[in-house]
Amino acid sequence: MNIAEVLKNKIEAGQNVLTEFESKELLEEIGIKIPAQNLTKTKDETIAAAEKIGFPVVLKLMAEDVVHKSDTGAVKLNIKNKEEVGSAYDDLMKIESQSEKQISVQKMADEPITELIIGMTTDAQFGPALMFGIGGILVELLEDVSFRIAPITEYDAKEMIHEIKGFPILDGYRGKPKADINAIVDTLLKISDLVVKNEEIFEMDLNPVFIYENGLLCVDARIILKKKE
Ligand code: ADP
Ligand code: MG
Repeated sequence: MNIAEVLKNKIEAGQNVLTEFESKELLEEIGIKIPAQNLTKTKDETIAAAEKIGFPVVLKLMAEDVVHKSDTGAVKLNIKNKEEVGSAYDDLMKIESQSEKQISVQKMADEPITELIIGMTTDAQFGPALMFGIGGILVELLEDVSFRIAPITEYDAKEMIHEIKGFPILDGYRGKPKADINAIVDTLLKISDLVVKNEEIFEMDLNPVFIYENGLLCVDARIILKKKE
């Protein structure tokens, strides 16, 4: 995949939002781990993909106008067999959308130590800024996030992680295993490098990223491109 070319073609086609599937494909290309994923259309294709990936799987509706997927019922978690794939598929096809519908079949990821949020926004004055936080209630309620202007160094990435209030959750709080901090540092550096090299990227939202004792998995992502001038 030539990332610069993919982004340029998207903008030319007037599509400035990449689907979750496309966003994660791009992240995988820069070395960020994602659950195995397959894009399908028909029910038979969807069942075949689920069997190939191996149960349990997750089915999600990919359509340009469905953005907050869980709000509209577009995420079906922990599907354990062929029959469940069939009924989840039928439910997803009932969701209202004006766009072309596809299904992302993906491996159901193991439960993480915690969910993380990694993002990037473009500041009118300073350009690309990276964001890091712990997912769920901590981010939404306490606004417990850290920011740095890109490009960042390894030292900056470590500071971003350590300065949030929720850091103890990553550091073996209450007997939980310690999260793989190096994997988070590595991911922040990869995102920094990506956005510095590709000015077409306006916004990125990796939400959530599942963090483990060893490694991490980005289970949802959205990339927004700058509009064609
Ligand atoms: P939304 O568009 O609503 O943000 P997500 O793709 O983030 O939808 O899915 C909603 C939630 O479902 C996630 O926050 C995560 O907890 C869970 N989830 C999504 N994909 C997976 C997966 N592949 N494995 C395990 N859990 C998942
Ligand atoms: Mg999400």
